[in-house]
Amino acid sequence: MSKAFDVIVLGARCAGSPTAMLLARRGYRVLAVDRASFPSDTVSTHLLHPRAVNALSRWGLLDRLVATGCPPIHTYSFDFGAFTIAGTPGTDNDPVAYCPRRTILDKLLVDAAAESGAEVRQGFIVEEIIIDGERVVGIKGRSKHGGSVTEYADVIVGADGRHSMLSEAVHPEQYREKPPLLAAYYSYWSELPMDGRFETYIRDKRGFAAVPTHDDLTLVIAGWPYPEFADNKKDIEGNYLKAIDLAPDFARHYAAQHAKHPSPARRCRIIFASLTALAGHS
Ligand SMILES: Cc1cc2nc3c(=O)[nH]c(=O)nc-3n(C[C@H](O)[C@H](O)[C@H](O)COP(=O)(O)OP(=O)(O)OC[C@H]3O[C@@H](n4cnc5c(N)ncnc54)[C@H](O)[C@@H]3O)c2cc1C
Repeated sequence: MSKAFDVIVLGARCAGSPTAMLLARRGYRVLAVDRASFPSDTVSTHLLHPRAVNALSRWGLLDRLVATGCPPIHTYSFDFGAFTIAGTPGTDNDPVAYCPRRTILDKLLVDAAAESGAEVRQGFIVEEIIIDGERVVGIKGRSKHGGSVTEYADVIVGADGRHSMLSEAVHPEQYREKPPLLAAYYSYWSELPMDGRFETYIRDKRGFAAVPTHDDLTLVIAGWPYPEFADNKKDIEGNYLKAIDLAPDFARHYAAQHAKHPSPARRCRIIFASLTALAGHS
């Protein structure tokens, strides 16, 4: 079998692209493939803690992110009702966090991988993992309008996210598994200035968090215990807003903003909302 690549990375978002980039910078012949095209969104909120920001800085990519107008976040605050803990999330060297839209972050990372010498194939669907004996040796797939293509490499990296095809092919040992704990929905709000703060509100069986992102928007995610998922699905927006109303100061703040700038939707302009059942990680 002929090998045009040392490494194939399956999945080219925030795990795959930096992997491809770093290997390519070390001189390896790298192919990164993704069925998505970039820029594109994915179901995920997107807070980058200061250590992740530090990684972007080490890779020479932080200036590019800052140039996109993503607001820095200098304060994290956790409001438990009875008391609030607030402070800086970082260190003297890495004082701030950012919450870039995945449309922007992932595109930036894909471009960096390509600039570093990795071949990036977007819109390429992997349909089969090729296994020889006990080793994964290649992938078989196709671009959206092309024929079937097979590529081989010494190492195949699975960065293909949840329900990973590569993982299913090799049946890795599973450990520290937990059932779903939380159902959460998020949306993007206009006219809700956060002044560089990531705010989290924890109440009885409810919680929500707000964080500023690109385009003067604020991401607000609200959730409840997973056992309530099915019942609360009957009125997603109502339950989402009721969770936010449990923190009256925050609720008043956004109500005031919308009194000044009324919009057709009730108090918020929901651009995108999605559900996930987050598996707990200890
Ligand atoms: C609701 C929610 C909120 C989150 N909030 C945060 C947060 O605030 N901060 C944070 O750091 N993390 C957060 N996470 C976690 C974060 O989303 C993931 O850790 C991250 O997306 C994983 O990145 P990844 O590159 O491994 O996978 P993904 O981002 O899932 O990318 C996998 C890629 O593989 C591609 N792919 C899959 N199968 C194939 C195939 N057969 N052929 C071709 N391509 C394929 C997909 O198209 C996709 O682009 C959140 C997750 C969720 C669900």
